[in-house]
Amino acid sequence: MVMEMKIDDLDLKLIYLLMDNSRLSISELAERLGVSRPTVKSRLDRLEKDRIIQGYTIKLNPELLRAHNVVALIIKTSEPEKLQEFEEIIEINRFTSRKYLIKVAVEDMEQLRNVIEGAGFEVIEIMPVLESVERTSPPKVKIPFKCDYCGKEIIEEPIVYKYRNRVYFFCCPTCLREFKRTRENIEKFRLKEENKIEHAHEHEHNAHN
Ligand SMILES: [Zn+2]
Repeated sequence: MVMEMKIDDLDLKLIYLLMDNSRLSISELAERLGVSRPTVKSRLDRLEKDRIIQGYTIKLNPELLRAHNVVALIIKTSEPEKLQEFEEIIEINRFTSRKYLIKVAVEDMEQLRNVIEGAGFEVIEIMPVLESVERTSPPKVKIPFKCDYCGKEIIEEPIVYKYRNRVYFFCCPTCLREFKRTRENIEKFRLKEENKIEHAHEHEHNAHN
């Protein structure tokens, strides 16, 4: 479902930063976005109030889950509500009216047998899950989101670039490259100016002596 919500690119930048690290403080967020702390605070309050941000979660070490064996089962059942009764069943995907793909986390085969017998489903196929990769996807929100270099609306996934503790978003690699080049030139110019000032000071010293 694509949600049409009233959020702008500053909101989205906030969301991106928090998705990366939900423990960033208001000061840190303000610094990275180049806005004031009260701005960040009021944005966060509104995003929470509007239930766009529904919580701040943690990332568990996957080793903890590996303490269990995860098994994927394709099953047939006419009593799907029974699946909900077993906390060992960690995922339920429905294919057809009676066919499901479920994932079960158990310590041993005995526990798996208990689940199968208790929930009363028919096992069509059973496979151990060797590895599971959690994918984080960008939020599916449709908002005007502008490139920090050319100002055009970003249609695809933005390129996120961190520079001097700030976060910038670009529509394409070209804009990122041009942005970097402009910054480098500014940097060079600043260094030159600083050198000039230092030299000037040296001259002053020499003149005094
Ligand atoms: Zn651009």
